[in-house]
Amino acid sequence: MPLRIFYSPIFREHKPEGYHPENPTRLDYAIRGLSENGLWNEENVLEPVPASPSDVLLIHDGDYVNRIRELAAGFTYLDPDTYVSPGTWEAALTALGAARDAVKFAVKEKGLYLALVRPPGHHAGRSGRAFNASTLGFCIFNNAAFAAYTLRELEGNAVVIDFDAHHGNGTQEIFWNDPAVVHIDLHERDIYPWSGYEYDVGGKDAEGSKVNVPMPHYSGDDDYILAWEEIVLPILGERDPSVVVVSAGFDGFLGESLTTLRLTERFFSYAGSTLSRYSLAVIFEGGYNIGLMKGLPAFIKGYLDGRTERSPIKPGYETLSTVQRVISVHRNWWGL
Ligand SMILES: [Zn+2]
Repeated sequence: MPLRIFYSPIFREHKPEGYHPENPTRLDYAIRGLSENGLWNEENVLEPVPASPSDVLLIHDGDYVNRIRELAAGFTYLDPDTYVSPGTWEAALTALGAARDAVKFAVKEKGLYLALVRPPGHHAGRSGRAFNASTLGFCIFNNAAFAAYTLRELEGNAVVIDFDAHHGNGTQEIFWNDPAVVHIDLHERDIYPWSGYEYDVGGKDAEGSKVNVPMPHYSGDDDYILAWEEIVLPILGERDPSVVVVSAGFDGFLGESLTTLRLTERFFSYAGSTLSRYSLAVIFEGGYNIGLMKGLPAFIKGYLDGRTERSPIKPGYETLSTVQRVISVHRNWWGL
């Protein structure tokens, strides 16, 4: 099965002044992890076609887009978490283009198409901060939402799975009232951006299309595998799409410092393997060091290998009750 990576050196030109966890060395970690696993070579890395400024209006308000363009003339902070620099505008347009390319390729031929992009996107809502979030959480334009939009245009509907450690509040807000976009989001509960609870299920005409699984602090592989088996896979099976958009963050990996999650290669490889019957557009989100070197290649190798090895699991009590709660909420719409 083909593996293609959409990547451009322009993604390094969105850069902080002084220290910031979301910086160009993240790409070095990711590329090192891919190279060490034989997943990065000259033939499978492609230069993306950038989105145009008017394309951005398909998912964001004009005022927000103009504000980014103007502020990115120099270096400044949009909020305490999120900066723009002179390279941000071009990088953000190219990141959107990479997400669109990944979907177009995924629709054409079954495989894994990775948009290895910066700046990240899943916290960016239609006009900036989404729901009650205090900041944009390092994000500028929502790459995964643009992928979902592109897929919905081509196929009539879309499924997004977001396993970044944080809730993909921007993506969810953009499609809140759109029943054609199913968004399943696993994340650590009660941390930034303080949204994505069990009872958040989508707007009035889209109820059940947004599935939130707020995982307990310190969740590990067994906890995530349980939630994946009991919620993600049955919903995917019921929708049975040919292409899935994955909002892929690796900041839940054990040893990453932004959250308390303790995921390892075991979960990421398992997750990849269970998706091998679908074509994937994988949009890069968070992950700051070891998660990129270990989790990202494990996910891709799991997918390419396709054999799901499922050893016995011992999820925590809190995970069992969380999963049970999500199931009881979503039984209204899904055969869970
Ligand atoms: Zn994150």
